[in-house]
Amino acid sequence: MKYMSTRANHESVESVQAIYKGMVPRGGLFVPESFPEADLEVWKDLSYADLTYEVLKLYLTDFSEKDLRDSVHEAYGTGAFEKNRIAPMKYLSEDLNILELWHGPTAAFKDLALQLMPRLLHRSAMKLSTGRQLVILVATSGDTGKAALEGFKDIPGIRIIVFYPKHGVSRVQEMQMLSTGGKNTCVVGVEGNFDDCQTKVKHIFGDHAFARELKVNGYEFSSANSINWGRLVPQIVYYFYAYFEMVRAGKLEFGNPFNVVVPTGNFGNILASYYASEMGLPVGHFVCASNKNNVLTDFIESGKYDRKRKFYNTSSPSMDILISSNLERFLYHMVNGKAEKILRWYEDLSKKGIFKVDIATHHRILEKFSGGYSTEAEVFETIRSIFDRDHYVIDPHTAVGVHVYQKYRKETGDQTPTVIDSTASPFKFNKTVYQALFGDTGVKSEFELMQALSKKTDMPIHPSLQGLENRKIRFDTVVSLSKVKSEVREILGL
Ligand SMILES: *Cc1c(COP(=O)(O)O)cnc(C)c1O
Repeated sequence: MKYMSTRANHESVESVQAIYKGMVPRGGLFVPESFPEADLEVWKDLSYADLTYEVLKLYLTDFSEKDLRDSVHEAYGTGAFEKNRIAPMKYLSEDLNILELWHGPTAAFKDLALQLMPRLLHRSAMKLSTGRQLVILVATSGDTGKAALEGFKDIPGIRIIVFYPKHGVSRVQEMQMLSTGGKNTCVVGVEGNFDDCQTKVKHIFGDHAFARELKVNGYEFSSANSINWGRLVPQIVYYFYAYFEMVRAGKLEFGNPFNVVVPTGNFGNILASYYASEMGLPVGHFVCASNKNNVLTDFIESGKYDRKRKFYNTSSPSMDILISSNLERFLYHMVNGKAEKILRWYEDLSKKGIFKVDIATHHRILEKFSGGYSTEAEVFETIRSIFDRDHYVIDPHTAVGVHVYQKYRKETGDQTPTVIDSTASPFKFNKTVYQALFGDTGVKSEFELMQALSKKTDMPIHPSLQGLENRKIRFDTVVSLSKVKSEVREILGL
């Protein structure tokens, strides 16, 4: 399998390079040249790990079978996930079929990719034998940082440095990061907001002189963000898995289509479901759910992507995004690989903050995709109503998906069995969830709220969050924005 650039500005590469490079150096993303075919009959009885192996084998054809097997086993078979609960389904009333993607070590769905991708990256680096250590730089608004730290923890030949806005993450998220183990991990608070952190890290990535200095000292920067193919491919798996689980549960007849509903930010998760369908998984319709930052809802409806709009901080922060990076891959497939169109649209986006796809492309998108969004009031109301009805607690991101699905079904009358991705444990967002269920939170700390929420709902706290407030803090450095680069130097001993 070869990987091409969405902007036709790079020669095609094998998966090892696509994963090692992360993105195309001059802009653009690596996409597979074709979609391999799934064998549903054979796959339907496989365990999660074995299914993962089959999917990887079709896409990462330049890896040895042993490397793939070992990577999959290390990610999903050694206890990072709750035993045998990698992606369990939960069936609620009114046909709400929930895929719980938060049983990994950081209680968010990013674990599914970030437990596996670092192992693929490590093996890619070995194959390319550059002799240099990789330094992963991450700017995080909370969730990605912790999932990346856990994924890269103690991976040989790789170090990871995470920058987070000192006053811009929740106390739970901060404690999760600051208590991370591992000899190769480092966490630094920054006086500034998330955008400042991200811009700073991007500058460092683009700093050629600094890159040369690093090389001389045996280092090389890399990134772990969701545009890396190594993060996307593990996410294809759980759509197959959910389908087979629903068949086993009698919710669906083998061979018939199901719909998918995905709470969306960077478009990675929903894109993975599209890849699964192109491989032969029978998906009827894709529903892309957004919060108040509804740039994708507008795009799907109008064919016009317009990032020139107000940015809202919502109760589902992992979806507070105005530039949805992985959409570029999807559009590439929608125009049958006509890279000149992608190039033009993304030039428009960067120069004017807006682009419009042609009518044929827009129609093609509408055939399979719907968008919808939830206001903050609707998120709160959904968390409450699901608890009242089913005694089941969902987090604000999942609530966005549930609400958008309910609206979609009402408006279209589409009764196709549907899976809804649940992307985070409710115990990561105690304040919002507590407020939605029981009103005023008083002056309780986040950790007190977590306990109270667990007690009042009879739901056990996610193991990775239990006792978090008492864990040992390993990192206490806070720097100003202007010191981010010198901090990297210091950490690497340059
Ligand atoms: C990252 C994230 C999302 C968005 O996923 P994308 O792949 O970026 O669309 C949704 N919910 C949670 C909890 C997340 O952490």
